[in-house]
Amino acid sequence: MSGDGSLDRLKRDGRVVVVGASLAGLRAAETLREKGFAGSLTMVGDEPYEPYDRPPLSKQVLLGRATPDHTSLPRRRALDARWRLGVAASGLDMAARRVRLADGDEVEYDRLLIATGVRARPWPKESEAELDGVFVLRTRDDAAGLERALARNPRRVLVVGAGFTGSEIASACRERGIAVTVAERAAAPLVGALGGVVGQVAAELQREHGVDLRCGIMVTGLEGDTGNRVRAAHLSDGNTVEVDVVVVCLGALRNTEWLAGSGLGAGPRGIACDAGCRAFDIRGIVTDDVYVAGDVARSPHPLFGYQFLSLEHWGNAVAQAETAAHNMMSESVDRRPHIWVPAFWSSQFGVNIKSVGVPSMGTEILIAQGALGERRFTGVYGYQGRVIGAVTFDQTKWLQFYQQLIETTAPFPPSFPTVDRRPEGQRPVDADFPDPSVPTSGPTVTLTGYSPADRRMTFTPAGH
Ligand SMILES: Cc1cc2nc3c(=O)[nH]c(=O)nc-3n(C[C@H](O)[C@H](O)[C@H](O)COP(=O)(O)OP(=O)(O)OC[C@H]3O[C@@H](n4cnc5c(N)ncnc54)[C@H](O)[C@@H]3O)c2cc1C
Repeated sequence: MSGDGSLDRLKRDGRVVVVGASLAGLRAAETLREKGFAGSLTMVGDEPYEPYDRPPLSKQVLLGRATPDHTSLPRRRALDARWRLGVAASGLDMAARRVRLADGDEVEYDRLLIATGVRARPWPKESEAELDGVFVLRTRDDAAGLERALARNPRRVLVVGAGFTGSEIASACRERGIAVTVAERAAAPLVGALGGVVGQVAAELQREHGVDLRCGIMVTGLEGDTGNRVRAAHLSDGNTVEVDVVVVCLGALRNTEWLAGSGLGAGPRGIACDAGCRAFDIRGIVTDDVYVAGDVARSPHPLFGYQFLSLEHWGNAVAQAETAAHNMMSESVDRRPHIWVPAFWSSQFGVNIKSVGVPSMGTEILIAQGALGERRFTGVYGYQGRVIGAVTFDQTKWLQFYQQLIETTAPFPPSFPTVDRRPEGQRPVDADFPDPSVPTSGPTVTLTGYSPADRRMTFTPAGH
């Protein structure tokens, strides 16, 4: 598109389809209208609800402080869109610029935005996943079901996996006075995101709040009673825990299956796109009319060595959706890159945890302010001599400062003095992230053999 009037025509009476009617989809649609798009806008969402907010589902909703139907996302403006809710997109014909829907309908587009996000990874053994009392937590309906189960005062809840979602659920259970066991394969909670040094603080927090935390442990099986209700879980150390509720928190799967065979570069790791949110096709060539945003996207980030990052962060979904919408309605010279600095928050066990940058890329950590033992500190992550991430426990006010250090590739360790720098902050230590060469929960593919004739590919399915 190059000043030939086609952008004006697109803005005036073009057709935009957004697949995935949640946070990224909604914010993109609002931005399109703000940018003067007056054509037809179709929002396709497989959930029956208008866009709602997910972070409260593991926080206020589980504490009974908000009901799942009171989590609707606030609207920035009226949208004038055609909503196709409760129907999934089931296929994409890129040549004909058409999205197929599960009800047999088809919708044509001039620009398509894909914002289909992720879903919770289910318990791998289907018959056990179907037992009454076994939950995952991703949707409004999941939260409603889990909240009802917690309100019935279960004898004990088992949380499988101590990432952010699992830890927040355990926190909500303890706040409600419910006995909870957390089983985590790694050495501590939050290790994948924040490393072992901070993970040890998270472990102490959980235990102090009465969580029966079992690390270095895998759940090997769930057992039901004669009524098909879960009654026990078997652990890899040979122990059995009697439980009424199990919440499976084993991470997420990207919603890309509906794009199989479409020719788009979509797969289990998400949909690859350029920094301007334009999707790649399977040949690695960027498309002009298909854009991606939110949890389903994988995009290169200049601040982090142009690595393709998949971020499951609320703020990233909003910023990327806005950039995608801007670029959908711009001449190529006016397009802009999505260079949002990753940021995340969580609240659990009375502590407000926030991070910026990509702590998991860090090899070292320096406790620049406060002290681990006080549960009030700022940890700064270093990678190859520069600041790459930071985490705060109840010290949010410093985050902006460290964000600037990340943006300006400031040297690590930071040398400036701070009033609350303690002895433990004099020297960086190993951030203690799990060895990335050891496969964890995701499926892995290994290649062996050098000559093409010897080349062998071994697929190891996802563990748990
Ligand atoms: C319990 C919970 C707590 C969280 N807490 C935090 C937090 O504290 N801080 C933070 O930064 N982030 C948090 N997040 C993450 C944050 O909510 C996500 O980053 C955000 O929702 C991503 O928005 P999205 O629009 O990209 O994807 P999603 O919100 O996943 O939306 C994608 C939508 O597309 C739909 N869809 C999928 N496939 C199709 C299809 N084929 N056709 C039509 N529709 C389809 C899905 O059903 C869904 O409605 C939390 C998430 C959860 C689940």
